[in-house]
Amino acid sequence: MEKKKDIRSYSLDDLIPKIESMGQPKFRARQVWDWVWKKDVGDFDEMRNIPKDFLKELKDAFDFSRPRIGETQKSSDGTIKCGFKLGDGEYVEGVLIPTEDRITACISSQVGCSLSCAFCATGLLKRKRNLEAFEIYDQVFKMNLLSKREYQRPISNIVYMGMGEPLLNYSSVVRSAEMISSVDGLHMSPSRITVSTAGITKMIEKLAELKPRFNLALSLHAANDAKRNEVMEINKTNDLQGLISALNKFYDQTGNRVTFEYILLKDFNDSDQDADELVQIARKVPSKVNLIEYNPVEGLDFDRTADSKAERFREYLVKNRIPASLRRSRGKDIDAACGQLAGKK
Ligand code: SF4
Repeated sequence: MEKKKDIRSYSLDDLIPKIESMGQPKFRARQVWDWVWKKDVGDFDEMRNIPKDFLKELKDAFDFSRPRIGETQKSSDGTIKCGFKLGDGEYVEGVLIPTEDRITACISSQVGCSLSCAFCATGLLKRKRNLEAFEIYDQVFKMNLLSKREYQRPISNIVYMGMGEPLLNYSSVVRSAEMISSVDGLHMSPSRITVSTAGITKMIEKLAELKPRFNLALSLHAANDAKRNEVMEINKTNDLQGLISALNKFYDQTGNRVTFEYILLKDFNDSDQDADELVQIARKVPSKVNLIEYNPVEGLDFDRTADSKAERFREYLVKNRIPASLRRSRGKDIDAACGQLAGKK
């Protein structure tokens, strides 16, 4: 027997004729759509305005699986890490980060990751599979409810910076971002969404062609090829020159400045020369720089840069007219900080 498809793998335009072919009026498709995308239900049986007989037909025709929030941990700084149990039993993590002016949801795009960046806990896991668009969307959906409950405010920003390399799950990432911003989904502003990549040149170019309205960040972490090769394998086949030209193409097509993410690693990329090389790179494309405090990961050989040195590094960038901010790491005590997501249940 052919395996049933999840009802959320259909677009609304595809779902309408499907439901009509089952003898239902067009408005029924919209009702079902609203249940599966906009309401917090996990089963067809919970759809109260759908006739009982037709619910049975829906169950026979489609799958409907929604990740469930498993364990959540709250940090002393208010950050919450959520474990998501997927329909097939796999597990990913998302993080809610509250600050005074925003609540950011950091979400995952793959189970594990194939890229093995030297400083990252997720990279130790190996990639198991890509997430479906609705599995990515549901992390935002569920964390938005949690955010309203915990902080009395909805999510304001979304970053694809959790487990996995988003551009290696291109179509699901693009569709999930569309659904997050669509009126038929969560209707959040695409300008509040940032997709962060380790740097896959071809895919950045492909994304540029699409002219998305969301933002793009490059996890840079080293401003010359030799150093970047040491910590990010992917750089050996996607060097900085090619990446910069792809990022310029993204800027030309979208008008969105890109962000360089740069984790400060003690005695590796935090010298005055490193700061100067970063300035040179950042000048090559309309951009800003986010410096990120590192959180040591057990079994990995890196340490964090001292606060005073990190601040000096930032000041050097700003003095050279590169917009730069220094992001204090959040959720360290629950392994929810940048590079720490490792599916430790
Ligand atoms: S930093 Fe990102 S791309 Fe690199 S191993 Fe970790 S999750 Fe994968």
